Amino acid sequence: MIIIALEMWYNSEKLKGENMASTKDYIQRTLVVLKPDTVQRGIIGEIVQRFERVGLKIVGMKMVMPNEALYRKHYEDIGKMITRRGEQAFRYNVEYMMTGPVIAMVLEGVEAQPLVRKIVGPTEPKSAEMGTIRGDFSHMSFGYSDAKGVGVPNLVHASGSLEEAEQEINLWFNANELYDYSDLNEKYTR
Ligand code: ADP
Repeated sequence: MIIIALEMWYNSEKLKGENMASTKDYIQRTLVVLKPDTVQRGIIGEIVQRFERVGLKIVGMKMVMPNEALYRKHYEDIGKMITRRGEQAFRYNVEYMMTGPVIAMVLEGVEAQPLVRKIVGPTEPKSAEMGTIRGDFSHMSFGYSDAKGVGVPNLVHASGSLEEAEQEINLWFNANELYDYSDLNEKYTR
């Protein structure tokens, strides 16, 4: 009897262990691009600070000036922007992105992809809550940007899903541009 009970307990513990997610499963990488307006307004530091202060780790970072082909891959092949927002918005947006260099970075942390989207806020600055990057640093509306014929300058791109994050990181970074290292936050954030 005791042996059977022990065996049942052992099997249930074993099953729990097998089903249990490991902490590693929660660590995600996501792409952030500081757009031309962030670079030209001289607020790169303030924006990067938003991500650093929650304890996200920068595992890759560079200034680049991508061509139209890369933006087409990024916003249409991966992001399906034409289907979602229409040809005109897509064209305005690519023109805006090509007005200057951008800072591309890969951030790593616990469930980093949705966290970074939360920090960045929704697409239209007018609707973005105060406390988000887009709400705190911009105020333009879709209506105004369309009337002006420009892409909405909303400071930052952040991957929309984990699947997009993986594809975007591969598009923007070579494997040897991403780094594994320990930071001091990890004692408390991981
Ligand atoms: P997000 O960047 O929030 O994921 P989208 O992928 O839908 O948003 O759009 C990409 C970018 O294109 C937006 O961040 C914004 O800068 C620009 N954009 C989106 N919709 C419009 C629009 N109607 N008119 C002009 N620019 C737009």
